[in-house]
Amino acid sequence: METSSLGRRLATRFVAGETLDGALAVGRALNAEGITVTLDHLGESVTSLEEAAAARDVYLRTLTAIHDSGIQANVSLKLTQFGLDFSFEQCLSNVGQLVERAAGLNSFVRVDMESSAYTDRTLELVETLHARHGAVGVVIQSYLHRSKQDVEKLCTRGIRVRLCKGAYLEPHAVAFAAKSEVDRSFVELMRLLLEKGDYPAIATHDAALIEQTKAYAAQRKLPSDAFEFQMLYGIRRDLQRKLVAEGYRLRLYVPFGRAWYPYYMRRLAERPANVFFMVRNLFRQ
Ligand SMILES: Cc1cc2nc3c(=O)[nH]c(=O)nc-3n(C[C@H](O)[C@H](O)[C@H](O)COP(=O)(O)OP(=O)(O)OC[C@H]3O[C@@H](n4cnc5c(N)ncnc54)[C@H](O)[C@@H]3O)c2cc1C
Repeated sequence: METSSLGRRLATRFVAGETLDGALAVGRALNAEGITVTLDHLGESVTSLEEAAAARDVYLRTLTAIHDSGIQANVSLKLTQFGLDFSFEQCLSNVGQLVERAAGLNSFVRVDMESSAYTDRTLELVETLHARHGAVGVVIQSYLHRSKQDVEKLCTRGIRVRLCKGAYLEPHAVAFAAKSEVDRSFVELMRLLLEKGDYPAIATHDAALIEQTKAYAAQRKLPSDAFEFQMLYGIRRDLQRKLVAEGYRLRLYVPFGRAWYPYYMRRLAERPANVFFMVRNLFRQ
């Protein structure tokens, strides 16, 4: 899929092309609309530490290019792209170099959250690097039972949190299954973050949850620059435009690179109608 031209054309719905230059161009265009971005170089679960080092180098170049271009952007990454499956220490060293560079450039590294098998290690790594350099934050998934405790701890340490629902298939032992429970948890964590968090990011396309966030921020008289909404590139342009028009801060998660397949499949899985659109496009091509 990743190397076929048809696959690549399908992926453009959610992915800003294969190259850093392409991603920067998308970032520049979004900045012109009043939207900041976080660039994600696609790739996860690398198969060797050499690949992990190569991923680190791509991100080092990305941080420098963002700085040189003056685009309002930071980066997001997944620890399995930096060797977490092979060596915690090596992964810490790879990501540590990025966070150090980001701190020097007055930028920021967001560590995405992968499946629950990685939650403890991800939090440990982020806490360690935050204590050394600052300039790093993490993601909390409202579908996990443990998330309230994690949010409390992160707030106490002043570590920035992006709140999302969670995108992986998790066992009932660790995660809520019903949408109503995931949403209830999201609202609880959103409130906690708006009360105690450092510049929280509320990442959802769920219009009801966005409205609840706005209402709670208004109730607490928070200025619009005290937090930001985040959404994924290519999803709910209507909501994106509305938030910007209303004066809220919005950052888009903009993935780029050749290894788009797992990311694309997660986006398809989130919304069954996407599969229908994809198949229809296949026949159109
Ligand atoms: C900026 C950002 C970063 C994220 N980082 C992580 C992370 O680190 N770890 C992680 O596990 N998950 C991450 N996610 C994904 C997240 O966990 C959800 O899987 C995803 O955002 C869908 O949930 P939702 O909150 O939009 O609500 P949903 O209830 O799933 O969707 C609400 C509405 O949004 C629209 N929508 C949602 N998804 C799609 C889609 N794929 N295609 C078309 N329309 C859609 C539909 O209109 C839907 O009705 C991130 C999401 C965002 C926005």
